[in-house]
Amino acid sequence: MKIPLVDLKAQYAAIKHEIDEAVARVINETAFVGGKYVTKFEEEFAAYCRAKYCVGVGNGTDALYIALRMLGVGKGDEVITVANSFIATSEAITMAGARVVFVDCDPTTYNIDIEKVVSAITPRTKAIMPVHLYGQPADMMNLKAIAEKNGLFLIEDAAQAHGAEINGQRVGTFGHAACFSFYPGKNLGAYGDAGAIVTNDEKLAMKCRMIANHGRAQKYDHEFEGVNSRLDGLQAAILSVKLKHLDEWTEKRRKIASLYGNYLKNSGITIPVEKKGVRHVYHLYVVRMKKRDLVQKALTENGISAGIHYPIALPLLQAYRYLGHSDKDFPVATQYAQEILSLPMYPELSEGQVEYVCNQLKNALGKV
Ligand SMILES: *Cc1c(COP(=O)(O)O)cnc(C)c1O
Repeated sequence: MKIPLVDLKAQYAAIKHEIDEAVARVINETAFVGGKYVTKFEEEFAAYCRAKYCVGVGNGTDALYIALRMLGVGKGDEVITVANSFIATSEAITMAGARVVFVDCDPTTYNIDIEKVVSAITPRTKAIMPVHLYGQPADMMNLKAIAEKNGLFLIEDAAQAHGAEINGQRVGTFGHAACFSFYPGKNLGAYGDAGAIVTNDEKLAMKCRMIANHGRAQKYDHEFEGVNSRLDGLQAAILSVKLKHLDEWTEKRRKIASLYGNYLKNSGITIPVEKKGVRHVYHLYVVRMKKRDLVQKALTENGISAGIHYPIALPLLQAYRYLGHSDKDFPVATQYAQEILSLPMYPELSEGQVEYVCNQLKNALGKV
């Protein structure tokens, strides 16, 4: 049996009719950049997050960069973020002109460690940027309290967590701004690059909209220099179609996660811990084990694609050598980078496939 990590073809097959019709409509109307399909999706996604505003942009990395810059984060400022994420998180901080300050992750949730955030605050700290890693919200209640107490901005990197909740409140509404990616493999994925900023702050939304469109509100009336990072009509129309299915897909992901949990019970593999009161949306189903590399290789030989998110903690990448860190600065993230394994996870995965993956995994573990 061949089981990919994600299966975008299976999803397209299930909604082909709706997608093809939406794409044809946009092309017929040549509503390529901005326009009514973008506005429609922005309204729908804001409502989905239960937030007031959504500004569509070119991709999730730009969303982070734009939110930071429009909050006034820049040269001389420090932004605290987590050591285990995709590089886009820290890249956006540097792009905005600020200095990245990494902290280690919590050993059970893989999300930013609250106590380490507190000790990383300096007079130069301007913002905290937690990541809702793998689809589980970071501890936003405590982060909010820390941000308020220290007068810091709080920006959610929600690229992996569309629809995740804490006590019924959706991610996207905890911080000053939240940034989403609609990269094809994300829980809500476009058919190309796309992203969005979600906020309850009307002024911030307006500023983000302007910078993403060359610093203008009206045609050729540029108040400042911006960038070109707009959501295009085709992607917006596709996202509107897919948003209608998102909750059903998330429930399927959650069901698959619980199946994995059952099959892997007492196997010696560490499974994800879902925090109380939290709706984890399982962008990735990440387990942990010793001899991870050998296990991954054995799975590959049996047709199962498993991934590593991420194999090198951000501060230890060549790109961040200038910060002068060693692995001892981030013991949890560094150790976990050697042990984590992302198992196949997508809504169309069948129970038989989950069982097969788990059997192969237990087999491999017995042999290595
Ligand atoms: C995917 C991702 C991003 C970047 O999104 P793009 O749309 O690919 O630019 C940022 N942060 C995290 C945690 C991500 O997973």
